[in-house]
Amino acid sequence: MITVIGSINMDIVVETAIFPKQGETVLGTSFHTVPGGKGSNQAVAAARLGSDIHMVGAVGNDAFGKEMVSVLAAENIEHSFVKQGKKATGIANITLFENDNRIVVVPGANSELNEQDIDAAKSLIEQSDLVIMQLEIPQETVEYALGVCKEVGTKVLLNPAPAESFKVEWMDRIEYFTPNETECVEIFKDDVDQALEKYPNRLIVTLGSKGARYFDGDKHVFVESFKTTAVDTTGAGDTFNGAFAYAITNNYSIEEAVQFANIAASLSVEKFGAQGGMPQLFAVLNRLK
Ligand code: ATP
Repeated sequence: MITVIGSINMDIVVETAIFPKQGETVLGTSFHTVPGGKGSNQAVAAARLGSDIHMVGAVGNDAFGKEMVSVLAAENIEHSFVKQGKKATGIANITLFENDNRIVVVPGANSELNEQDIDAAKSLIEQSDLVIMQLEIPQETVEYALGVCKEVGTKVLLNPAPAESFKVEWMDRIEYFTPNETECVEIFKDDVDQALEKYPNRLIVTLGSKGARYFDGDKHVFVESFKTTAVDTTGAGDTFNGAFAYAITNNYSIEEAVQFANIAASLSVEKFGAQGGMPQLFAVLNRLK
């Protein structure tokens, strides 16, 4: 059983051929809403593979909140610890313009997830084989949850996005740490090799279309990605994390888990949307053969 403590957002996506200047109104070419937020994305990625997932998070008392809860329910994610906050459901307002994008994130209810909510979920955390967190909920809540995980002896997988909210002093409470290359450099102010050697079998750095790497105590291990044609890489990292968590909690070695996660993420980039391409177990196993 895995508990995900993290953000739940609705992504509001607008495409436009003309980018509005200050004070200008233009007509866009398309609009859609897509479920998102790193917490719910990673929960969906692992649930689709067959993990028993419990979500701890917050949505608003609004249409997006209701929709996000039904998305979780449809993915068989247990959501009794998703509370209804006072603020609106978190959103990411995404404007796509040619090959460029502009994104404004409003955390809304995600910012209301607090220490009491973590305390309320303490026995769930204690029963879990792994807790997954990212950094789109308040920093104090992450810090508190790390303390609770340590107290009850539950391992933590932390995906440090956005990286600026991470504190290096948390590293001794984290079993698996999964930044991408940019986040890794931002956090450790070292080159990637040095950082990896400091945290053997713990720091796994994702490398986009190249794959991922870690240090096993003796040597650097580079696990190549599955080469494919990417249609939309949104959520590749979230799929990687959810799949890695599935694999680790099913007793895969780190190398096997990274391989499995690379394959799952390669399948996810072949379809549109963060959650749209997240694969089921049979699809990953087929490609692993
Ligand atoms: P994002 O923020 O876009 O979700 P990220 O920056 O957290 O992703 P990346 O390192 O870009 O993470 O990608 C995570 C994993 O996704 C990689 O380790 C790799 O397995 C897979 N991946 C990403 N892009 C591609 C691609 N073009 N082809 C195949 N696999 C990919």
